[in-house]
Amino acid sequence: MSDEAKCSKPSCDKFTAINELAKRRGFFWSSFEIYGGTGGFVTYGPLGTRLKQNVEARLRELFVKKLGIFELESSVIAPGKVFEASGHVDHFKEPMVECQVCHTRFRADHLLEEKGISSKEAEKMSLDEIAQEIVTHGIICPDCKGSFGKPQRYLTMFETTIGPYSGAVGYGRPEAAQNIFVEFNRLFNISREKLPFGAIQIGHALRNEISPRQGLIRLREFTISDLEFFFDPEDQSCRFIEEVESDVLPILLCSTRLNECEDVTFFTVREALDKKIILCEWQAFFMAMAKRLLVELGVPMERQRFLEKLTWEKAHYSAQSFDQEVLVDRWGWVEVSGHAYRTDYDLSCHMKASGVDLRVYKEYPVPVETEELVIKPIMAKFGPVYKGDAGKVAAELAKISADKVVADINKDGYVMVGPYQVFKEQVEFGYQKTVERGTRFIPHVVEPSFGCDRLFYVALEYAYRVKDDRVILSFPRCITPIQVGIYPLMSKDGLDTKALELQKQLIQAGFMTDYDEAGSIGRRYARADEAGVALGVTIDYDTLNDDTVTIRDRDSWQQVRTSIKDLPELLRQYFTGKIGFESLGKSVQSK
Ligand code: AMP
Repeated sequence: MSDEAKCSKPSCDKFTAINELAKRRGFFWSSFEIYGGTGGFVTYGPLGTRLKQNVEARLRELFVKKLGIFELESSVIAPGKVFEASGHVDHFKEPMVECQVCHTRFRADHLLEEKGISSKEAEKMSLDEIAQEIVTHGIICPDCKGSFGKPQRYLTMFETTIGPYSGAVGYGRPEAAQNIFVEFNRLFNISREKLPFGAIQIGHALRNEISPRQGLIRLREFTISDLEFFFDPEDQSCRFIEEVESDVLPILLCSTRLNECEDVTFFTVREALDKKIILCEWQAFFMAMAKRLLVELGVPMERQRFLEKLTWEKAHYSAQSFDQEVLVDRWGWVEVSGHAYRTDYDLSCHMKASGVDLRVYKEYPVPVETEELVIKPIMAKFGPVYKGDAGKVAAELAKISADKVVADINKDGYVMVGPYQVFKEQVEFGYQKTVERGTRFIPHVVEPSFGCDRLFYVALEYAYRVKDDRVILSFPRCITPIQVGIYPLMSKDGLDTKALELQKQLIQAGFMTDYDEAGSIGRRYARADEAGVALGVTIDYDTLNDDTVTIRDRDSWQQVRTSIKDLPELLRQYFTGKIGFESLGKSVQSK
């Protein structure tokens, strides 16, 4: 049987098989099962929690540790003002239809997609056009075959009140980005008032999705990783660009999409920038990092693409957007991260709504000197002419631009100041020097935004394979939830004690381990393969004599023998990718 992924039950697809396995082995399951379950909420079990933490650890490793992006954690509920200012209250809506018989509600655009109307067409339709398409295609309720009422736009934010006051509207955040924007001044201060800098928040987001039926892919509560990177629009150079310049990005361009074609074009990061396919260096950099991240999680480049968003598909704030998509078995291309050039949109909105200055000050390399023409009244000549009104005339004159005063005097010999004529000899002309040392501006932002549950799901799907009718989760070493399984050949004769001692030693050395003494060694290996345990260490009777153990590789099922004293260091090298399996010891015949 080939190693190609396939379900052990011929009738079920990979999505179903993975969901079954996930439930059985404790990766994740639908929440609130004892009350019949509620769509769009999941509970991660012991293996899933660990896998999810490992996936999120890769994000932290790439962005927080290596690039020095600030990490913050803030509240899930925000006062209404925040999302009114950001535009979410007006725009965070989806088209919805309700069955007039069973009253189930559906995403109208998803129903149209099932009839072959692409999401790009559906997204730009008005509600009337959607209603028309529903009639034209005879779309009826998939659950009860009832007919649909008029489509409406439904706000997908969870609304609440903050405290017992009915007027204090709050919303569950549908993204973690706004919590970063509203903290901009503090973050800028922490960055020692220097641009560029970035801040990331990995936390829960809430979206009251209309009909979530895609497991981990569409949840009502999920983990989002929003990274907001602030920079000076006049200096968009990314100091890390050289590191990724030759990375290849598969891009499905707007121009290709408009021709109803799905072919990607491959660009190196450098080409994409030179050809202005990607407008901003920082955005190109983060897209390259996103591609690398997905490769690390086990998704090859051929199964990834960046979809350039069409004008009407882009979020209301975005100047240029790409969705990073991964090909998955049941659902086709699924967005795992969004890359938006948000310009100064969010900071401008919050500055306007809060009245707090969110601009930064930039000193010019050389101060800019300007000379300004000024007109000064000669008060000794004003007094006798305008008497008690002299002060008022002088004040009104100051309000007229110097250029206009000069132009009128040159033309007519005087300038009108209210009802009075002011003549050339009553004023002095001069130049006033001003020195500007800098300027204030609103930083621009690019945002890579990852859905952690989708990263989790694709990591799981790409790890999933079947070999000899056994499921193996071949996770990449860096995310595998359990690194080492420890198995005494028998749970007697001191083998179990020795195995538990070894487990203690490996835990102290920092490894994630699992001890299993139940059933035959073959069954234990099978259980471990299904849980994605990377290596199995077996303690047998020889171990008691020579302190050596057998290490078994989950993916190749090969075995090597090595001494316990070398084990922690060898494992450390193995899990940091420095050595391969064969270097862990001397090859032995598989049992
Ligand atoms: P968006 O702000 O809509 O671009 O979402 C950012 C990322 O969050 C997307 O790329 C997805 O990976 C993820 N995401 C969005 N909506 C959901 C959802 N309902 N359930 C799970 N993940 C989601």
